[in-house]
Amino acid sequence: MDGSIRLPVDESGASSEWRQRTLKTAISCVGVGVHSGRRVNLTIQPAAADHGIVFRRTDLDRVIEARFDNVCDTRLSTVLSDPAMASARVGTVEHLMAALSALGIDNALIDVDGPEIPILDGSAAPFVFLLDCAGWVEQQAPRRVIEIRRTVRVSAGNAWAELRPLGPAVRAMRPVLELELSIDFAASAIGRQSASLRLTPDSFRHEIASARTFAQAAEVEQLQAAGLARGGSLDNAIVVDGADILNAGGLRMANEFASHKLLDAVGDLALAGGKLHGRFVANRTGHELNNRLLRSLFADETAWAPIATEPLIAAA
Ligand SMILES: [Zn+2]
Repeated sequence: MDGSIRLPVDESGASSEWRQRTLKTAISCVGVGVHSGRRVNLTIQPAAADHGIVFRRTDLDRVIEARFDNVCDTRLSTVLSDPAMASARVGTVEHLMAALSALGIDNALIDVDGPEIPILDGSAAPFVFLLDCAGWVEQQAPRRVIEIRRTVRVSAGNAWAELRPLGPAVRAMRPVLELELSIDFAASAIGRQSASLRLTPDSFRHEIASARTFAQAAEVEQLQAAGLARGGSLDNAIVVDGADILNAGGLRMANEFASHKLLDAVGDLALAGGKLHGRFVANRTGHELNNRLLRSLFADETAWAPIATEPLIAAA
């Protein structure tokens, strides 16, 4: 495999980081779409090796691959559509994609009978719970791992996002995605915050998964007047008004706003079509920049390379 990188084998002999995984069993839930306000049934099913994460609109009988180049809208959430049928869409995929990616699930078929993944409590914690209940199994096929070879940057005004290579000292044993971002909001309840994470199932579960989505009160009024955010409430979002947090229980963590943006980035980067090995750094990023970053990365063949994982499995 010319140009591909071979990583050292984990001395413990564990090969599981290099093999694909799927769920042990199917798992379902019912919830409300935050924008449509519609009740949605969601079932996450095991899938064969090399299947990838695929959404299926059961009401339309269309399948949509969870890939960055199927993203059709990033204004309010990350929305995927079927390239052959633009009206077949699945929105608000990012929190579920973050949970799947963080827990290392490569293959799943996700049935949904409406245009949006349920918002549940506005975080990824309920999806982590569902995936934990289902359990996972290792598959024979090697994982697709994509190493960042050169820094790629996208920006819009003073917002920017980068994917950077990791130094060789860190390039060992397993694919690593490090993330670090900062935000800066005029509303003083949010203000300036930052969050960082070395993505593992445990770090995601304990530090990031429960961070909820957030909105400003004036924004919520505008969205609802436009017929959006119909399912939005204090049960599935933090709502901020200037210096005040309107949720009775306050925040779940001091930097919950930045942590949620990091959660969103994990979900958006999970649309790369493989595990990323690199470092994500961003300021005031969002779904649009995160998606543009993947498009820029894959448009430049010198910026990335697949890691050959077969020899690592064979040697373990
Ligand atoms: Zn989000």
